[in-house]
Amino acid sequence: MSKIEMKTPLVEMDGDEMTRILWQMIKDELLYPFIDLKTEYYDLGLEHRNETNDQVTIDSAEATKKYGVAVKCATITPNAARMEEYDLKEMWKSPNGTIRAILDGTVFRAPIIVKGIEPCVKNWKKPITIARHAYGDVYKSVEIDVPGPGTAELVFTGEDGTVLKETIHNFKGQGVLQGQHNLDDSIESFAKACFAYALDQKQDLWFATKDTISKKYDHTFKDIFQEIYEADYKDAFEKAGITYFYTLIDDAVARVMKSEGGYIWACKNYDGDVMSDMISSAFGSLAMMTSVLVSPTGVYEYEAAHGTVQRHYYKHLKGEETSTNSVATIFAWSGALRKRGELDKLPELMEFADKLEQACIKTIEDGKMTKDLALITSMSNPTVLNSRDFIVEIRHTLEGML
Ligand code: NAP
Ligand code: MG
Repeated sequence: MSKIEMKTPLVEMDGDEMTRILWQMIKDELLYPFIDLKTEYYDLGLEHRNETNDQVTIDSAEATKKYGVAVKCATITPNAARMEEYDLKEMWKSPNGTIRAILDGTVFRAPIIVKGIEPCVKNWKKPITIARHAYGDVYKSVEIDVPGPGTAELVFTGEDGTVLKETIHNFKGQGVLQGQHNLDDSIESFAKACFAYALDQKQDLWFATKDTISKKYDHTFKDIFQEIYEADYKDAFEKAGITYFYTLIDDAVARVMKSEGGYIWACKNYDGDVMSDMISSAFGSLAMMTSVLVSPTGVYEYEAAHGTVQRHYYKHLKGEETSTNSVATIFAWSGALRKRGELDKLPELMEFADKLEQACIKTIEDGKMTKDLALITSMSNPTVLNSRDFIVEIRHTLEGML
């Protein structure tokens, strides 16, 4: 069988620990045998980030802007323990944070649905994708412990001398205070990324805030979404047969629980933080989630939603067997290959991406899976495979489909 040709390289961002081991196995077993794989390789493993003073992370993000599609392995975000373990020059920032800042992106996360790994919510038949705004609100807030009686005011002093003032509260005793902000630019980028992704996925877009209570703050989010929708996306949505739906956050939560899924749910920063954990645990596991960063200019970076699976890596280093689930990392590759195929008009590459995903799902549905899934499956007597054998089994399934 001749290998599938590629035109433009993918930006390949290698990573750390167990996921770095899986990364190589995936390329060897599932990609090289079938594709004439073209990538521009960036090693985001912590050692190399340290050697390059983290320049490699910046370079990889710039390359993503240039080529349009990247695939990223999970990476270590350094903390005090990692400083020592890797003898780091500095506590380098989270690569995901650096890349997100350069691409100005929004992260979309969706569960991978498999028969036998049933969501806790019975009526969820299709994935629910969460789009989380990643700037501001409580994550960039300032807080004061109010020591006793006094007046709290909200004051804005413009560069031109304009002063806007509101009394927050006349305290009679002790209490607490918090100041939050967001930026129109950031909300606009978020809105555009959501509308563009909904069109790309041909799925309805839901958005919700508490604008009845927060008449300026949350209302600004609602208004910006509505203005951008009317101006730039309404026609395209109508043509694609999808809808934009705004409601109150409490109404949204109630509707989500009753829905059958199959839409994108745009969330403000805090809502997205909380709801994405609820959605992923209700659907099964982080190892069965896809994650893609989409910039407002339409640049895509695909990754797994989980980390580097450190505990498994240490077992691997000791020569012990591991049973680490590679599905999310494989789906990062298939997502990137499909997008590359779409941009370069390579239907064969897109078809391969579809088959690779189907092969993962079929392998699990045939009862062959890693330990994390065996623990939660409703199937009786699943076959538990080690990290490599699971990937090899997916290869057998894939070969049967090609
Ligand atoms: P983690 O890598 O997500 O793993 C936490 C636990 O979840 C594992 O010990 C394992 O449970 C289970 N797990 C996660 N992924 C799995 C998979 N594919 N297959 C089977 N089980 C899986 O989180 P962590 O151990 O807290 O973090 C390790 C490193 O990852 C940290 O240095 C952190 O900075 C980094 N991180 C990176 C990213 C990213 O690059 N996107 C995201 C999060 C964390 P059991 O041990 O019970 O089997
Ligand atoms: Mg969280």
